[in-house]
Amino acid sequence: MGRIVILFSCLIMTVSNLFAQFETKLNEELFLTKLNDTAYVLTHYFPWESNSLIIKASEKEVVLIDTPYDTAGTALIIDWINTNLKPDKISAINTGFHVDNLGGNPYLREKGIDIFGSDRTCELIDEKGKQTQQKLISWLKPEQERIKKVYESMVFVKPNKTFKIQDGITLKIGALTFEVFFPGESHSPDNLIVYIDELDLLFGGCMVKSLSSRNLGFTGDANIAEWPKSMKVVQEKYKMAQIVIPHHGMWGDMSLVQHTINLLENN
Ligand SMILES: [Zn+2]
Repeated sequence: MGRIVILFSCLIMTVSNLFAQFETKLNEELFLTKLNDTAYVLTHYFPWESNSLIIKASEKEVVLIDTPYDTAGTALIIDWINTNLKPDKISAINTGFHVDNLGGNPYLREKGIDIFGSDRTCELIDEKGKQTQQKLISWLKPEQERIKKVYESMVFVKPNKTFKIQDGITLKIGALTFEVFFPGESHSPDNLIVYIDELDLLFGGCMVKSLSSRNLGFTGDANIAEWPKSMKVVQEKYKMAQIVIPHHGMWGDMSLVQHTINLLENN
């Protein structure tokens, strides 16, 4: 009986840790959920829901994985980091060329924050940046005029610390190891995952769908043939992951990766 109670309360703790929604509301569109003392999920509705990640790598260093959609949201989050985590240094990682990955780059570079990203992401900003911008604008409703104005005036800034996509990069920052890995093309030709070894945490980004996703979402830049293969690479390589963060929707465990494979196979 005692064991069952302990097991049950562990389960409740895990579930409430993983699903403690929106602990801090930064404004009407920006919410912060503390997963543990090291990791915070940042959720931006602009107007579509999107997750990025704040990692306290040490007392002195913070890493931002992807950014809110725009510079104002990114400014708010950098202020929050400076006030609450008080780091000496902030670094950033972009996991793709879409605006939910890097819309905040202009602000980050203005503040002298280094941004790590792949050579392919830089190419795709040149090749498709304008096109994606127009697509997003076309999806907005007339009553979303304020958001539309932001997208219309958006400028794409590339990561300044680049690496070859096929090589990926391993960053040792503070007490943590960030493995930035390209498993092959997926939701976009350049989507990367970030695995934080010490936290058993996989930031799956846009290639991993949440359990409530019933379809693949926007696939205009996707490689549908390669995506399932890339997911299986992730599934095999990161089977030890305990926390999996998708770019859109609720996080969970490796079942999100299997769910994404199922969606792809039934597509
Ligand atoms: Zn996305």
